[in-house]
Amino acid sequence: MIRIALLGSTGSIGRQVLSVVARYPERFSVVSLAAGSNAGLLKEQAEKFHPRICCLTDAGKASALSDFPRGISLYTGPNAPLHAVTEDCDVVFAAMSGFAGLAPVLEAISLGKTVALANKETLVAGGDLVMKRAAEKGVAVVPVDSEHSAIFQCLHFDRHAPFRKLIITASGGAFRDLSAEEIAKKKAKDALKHPNWNMGNKITIDCATLLNKGLEVIEACHLYGAGLDRVEAVVHPESVVHSLVEFEDGAVMAQLGVPSMELPIQLALTYPERLPTGIPSLSLVGKTLHFSPIDEEKFPCFPLALESYRLGDNFPCAMNAANEVAAGLYLEDRIGFYDIPRLIRHAVEKTARAEVSCEAVLTETDRAARAYALEKFNSL
Ligand code: NDP
Ligand code: MG
Repeated sequence: MIRIALLGSTGSIGRQVLSVVARYPERFSVVSLAAGSNAGLLKEQAEKFHPRICCLTDAGKASALSDFPRGISLYTGPNAPLHAVTEDCDVVFAAMSGFAGLAPVLEAISLGKTVALANKETLVAGGDLVMKRAAEKGVAVVPVDSEHSAIFQCLHFDRHAPFRKLIITASGGAFRDLSAEEIAKKKAKDALKHPNWNMGNKITIDCATLLNKGLEVIEACHLYGAGLDRVEAVVHPESVVHSLVEFEDGAVMAQLGVPSMELPIQLALTYPERLPTGIPSLSLVGKTLHFSPIDEEKFPCFPLALESYRLGDNFPCAMNAANEVAAGLYLEDRIGFYDIPRLIRHAVEKTARAEVSCEAVLTETDRAARAYALEKFNSL
């Protein structure tokens, strides 16, 4: 029986994790659930999955917890997710969105728990620290992001296996085929109509700006110990090839399938074993697959993300924080599409370099970069 601590249980990934648990109740149990503000869904999940602990970060919703099932320990407030990371779990499933997911992941590592990692912002902001601590503790960090799961599968579930190059595919997001002039006029509601994947709002905006692909290249560098020169991103509108690995002898392996997060989520919990999912068979007959480079003029967030990684130290953390602010403002229709890279660039330029020696450096960088992004917003 694998005992799961689930961070971000009410989100798109979190709900799919619970579907996997419900499909295989003899294999999985839930020790704890952590959510942000959706108290109603958290309660439903608690009634169905009987966790020992439930956490809700938004203390303003705490009154909604009064009629929670008896016997569950409840925590609220900004540090609530830390209480979900317990001694008696086997796997911490990190499916919270954003920088807020970093602290509980570091806590999981300090307790020596396997981390199934969907929360890519954690690796982007604190990858050096997270991977160093995981290596010191001998903790497995298991990729959940579909591209990184595809690579993991091509590497026979060995993150340290040798390769020459990683090729990460991108759907291209909702605005792939539009001109820059057309994209400039697009609102969040248009960006949220993602052609191939159904995900949380923030990541769907990141897909439209292609910043998500920048985050994923950085995530791959950390997970697979590669420099930027060995990770390539290509647009592949059909989302059938989830990513590829080129080996030293020139062989290229890819993982293909119908686009669904169900597979990478379940596999992160069962690998190397493969169990049935609800995913239909892939039919390639009559399908044409396309691959093209990312248009960096139309999607400046992609090179911006990579540039922050080249700068190193705390700059990717600043880039991520500014993007969280900018994507949030775009979602509220308060800025235009091309204001997103403006806010990010401003915040990165203003960030003072600091060596990421501990979590506090990241927390301070994140706080400052959010303020810089808002400063730029106020001057628009
Ligand atoms: P959602 O927005 O759907 O869900 C986010 C989850 O995190 C919710 O449960 C939310 O709670 C919770 N949350 C947010 N902030 C806090 C906080 N401060 N404390 C506690 N809980 C919090 O996002 P997704 O599920 O789409 O994405 C989750 C992560 O997985 C992201 O990092 C994303 O990049 C990554 N990912 C997602 C994919 C997808 O297909 N969706 C694919 C690959 C990666 P509540 O809703 O209750 O406020
Ligand atoms: Mg992905």
